[in-house]
This record gives sequence, structure tokens and C-alpha cells, in this order.
Amino acid sequence: MAGPQKNSPKKPDPKSVPDSQEQEPDVEQVLFQGPLFDRECNLKANAKLVQVALIPVKQMISDALSRRAHTILLEPREGRVAIRFVIDGVAYPSAAVPGQKGAAMVQMIKLLAGLDINDRSTAQSGGMKTEYEKIPYHLMVDSIPVGGKAEKIRIKVDNRKIVRQKPQEIGFPEHLKSKIRHYTAERSGVILICGPPDTGVTTLATVVLHCVDPYLFSVFNLADLNVRELINVAEFKPEAGHDLEFTFERIIRREADVIYMNPLTSPQDTQTIFQFADRLSYVAEISANNPAEAIRKLIEWIGVDEVVKGLRCVVTQKLIRKLCDDCKQAFRPNPVLLKKLGLPPETSVLYRAPLPPPPDDPKAQTIEEMCADCDGVPYHGRVAAFEMFEMTDSMKEVIVNGASPEAIRRQMIADGQTTLQKDAIRLVAQGQTSLEEVQRTFNPGGPNKKPATGRPKPPAK
Ligand SMILES: [Zn+2]
Repeated sequence: MAGPQKNSPKKPDPKSVPDSQEQEPDVEQVLFQGPLFDRECNLKANAKLVQVALIPVKQMISDALSRRAHTILLEPREGRVAIRFVIDGVAYPSAAVPGQKGAAMVQMIKLLAGLDINDRSTAQSGGMKTEYEKIPYHLMVDSIPVGGKAEKIRIKVDNRKIVRQKPQEIGFPEHLKSKIRHYTAERSGVILICGPPDTGVTTLATVVLHCVDPYLFSVFNLADLNVRELINVAEFKPEAGHDLEFTFERIIRREADVIYMNPLTSPQDTQTIFQFADRLSYVAEISANNPAEAIRKLIEWIGVDEVVKGLRCVVTQKLIRKLCDDCKQAFRPNPVLLKKLGLPPETSVLYRAPLPPPPDDPKAQTIEEMCADCDGVPYHGRVAAFEMFEMTDSMKEVIVNGASPEAIRRQMIADGQTTLQKDAIRLVAQGQTSLEEVQRTFNPGGPNKKPATGRPKPPAK
């Protein structure tokens, strides 16, 4: 990598955001292409607001996208509006805008997303189409009233160009892919995908579905895909008036093997799916933070016997920041550490974040100067660690005997199943992330709580 570039899109002058009304000539600006969801956005009728707030909003969003932010937060705080960018799961302060201007930016974002700018006391959701550096993005906007006409804004960035569907595209390990193939090949049983909100559960569900060999098995979709498209999956339109049972009977006559369902949310539909789970294989999401929680929910809905009989596995993932390839440092791990991590003793190298420069050497480069690629963060992007709960015979006993989360976890380890922690160590061994980052991710209140320093920094005020 070359040294810091003058026009690098990653490092716009933070002072330009969003205090100045002048266009930064050397930083490309985002293009707004109208609201999503068939909403309207009347800029002409709001000319005064546009005049005050359009350019600051444009600069803020351009800055966020150039820094790969996946969430942008605007929050009223002590007479100002604090702006934060969430990058690779870590929130960084970006700016604090004086109250009136901040309030205008909030209104401008609502206008662009097709929300009602006169309503400041109801939570609203919308979105806008944008393009930045020739890449299309959908920005999903939520406005949340916080009292006294003040509102919080949350913008979620959806890069329309990055659509991940295949196992290798998210680093889904080969041994887990084989397990999915094994389970779906039986043409029976339920495979569930779960995880906390905003952790890529739907992407993971799509990937799990695409583990199935499309040349050997026929996969049908019964889920509402919204704007998504699936590869090698046949659409199946249920007839009006047909209930789920009738639809499954019809789909069985079409010789379906695997069915992709909408997320499981009701006991009734879940019951029907499990009733048919001896004749069809199912892939669906369930809203739960982890497999143990998903199992508890299923037991409440349909009873423990059905769960033990029909459930095959529950898959989840955790996103961990990836070490910057340009500045990560190799080190030789000692045998004690390797043993503790369960890594083979012949492992000769692991990686860690670069050590900061010696504080007593004024000529030493700062950590930001050491790497132009990550500006010293020193992480860039994220990788996933995976977990797969499997309903083995010994696990069935654990579930029937109470299914406590601790007992489930113990049995997963005893069975040698893939847990998040175990898979995170695989990422460390592959040099994709550091032990420190794994510890920070799994123990957010622990000693490594503070994320590594680096951009973006709050502007000097
Ligand atoms: Zn770096």
C-alpha cells in the first residue's frame, strides 16, 4: 500500500463534517435517488430545510460510507446532536452538531427517507436509495421520539452490491456444510438459524440453504423474500385459501426435498412444520439469541417430544473484527498458550495487532501513520465464527431432562460440536483475527472492552 493519499476517500477532513456548508471538492458526494417503499419526498415544498440541511446530511452520509460504516446514529445530547458511526460493530463518535442545525439534519434525513417530518412523536421507519462511488446502497431509516419533540435517528446501510449467498462467501466451514448436506439429504427434519438482531441471521439462513446440493435435491421457497433473490431455488406460490398443510401436501407431490420457510413466529405454523418434518426438510430462521433460547421457545410452542423428534440442528454466528492484513504482526505462540486454546502444538505462528510505538520516541510514527490501509485501527471488516447445535442421541436426553442452557452447552462440548468459542479459535489459528479481539467480542465488559483506537475521531471543537 502507498502512504496516506491526499484524496483518500477514507480520510475526509473531519472538520468538514458537517459544520461547513461548502462542498468539499475532492471528496465524492453521495447521490440521493429517492425514498424506498413507494414513498414521496417533496424537496420543493421544504426549500428552507433543504437549504440549511441537505449539504451537511450529504457530507455526513458520504463520510460514513467512505469509512464503511454500517450504521449511523444521530442522538440528541445536552443541546447538541451527537453523530456516531458504527464500523465493524464498534461505535465511533464522529461529530456533535449544535442543536438547531442537528435538528434540521434529523428532519432532512426523515424527508429524504419519505417519513412525515411534521410528526415527531411517533416512531417511523422508511428508507432511501443512494449511490456512492458507483455502488448502490439502500439506507434504512428509523426515527425514534425521545420526548420534547426530540428524535433519535438510526440509519442502517445496506450495500446492494454485496449479496452473499454461497457458503464460501461468508467463510462457512466445509465441515459444517457437509453436516447441512447430510441432514437435508434425509429429506426430513428442521434446520433453524438464530442470532441476536443485526448479526446477519438472514444472510446465514440463505447460506445454509445454499449448502444443499441443487443438482441432487429440489429446493423450494415459501418465504417472503422482499427484495432478495435466491439462486437454484424454485418459487412455490401457495394457492389462495390453501392452508399450510395443504400447501405442504402439494409441494410433496412436486417432489420437493427442502423448503425455505419464513421465520418461525407462531406455535401453529411451527406445529404444522414439525408434523411434516418426517417427509420434508425445512430451513427457517427463529428469533432467539442462541440455540438454547431457540430450543426453549420451540418446547413452549410444540412440546419437547416434537422438538426432539423433528429438530436436526440450530446454526448461529458471531461477527468478529478481522485483523488488518497490511499491519498485523506475526508472533510465535508458546506451548502453554497453544494447549490452553486447544491448538495443535506444531502451530508456529499466530497474529496480533501491531504494538504501539514507544512513547518516549518523538520521531516514531503514530499508530495511525503506521498503516494507510486501516489508519491504525488495526482491524478491517469482519469475519464470522459459527456454531451448530446438533440433536444427537445424547443431546436428546439432555433436552428431555430439562434442557438448561448450561447442560446443552456441556453436551455440545462433550459431543465435539462446533461452538462459537471453538470456531473463533479457528479464525485465530488462520490469522484472520487476534486473541485479544476474540476476548473482547465474547466478554464485552472485560479488560479488552475498549476497542483499538483509530479513526474516525471526533472533530476538534
Ligand atoms: Zn493496518
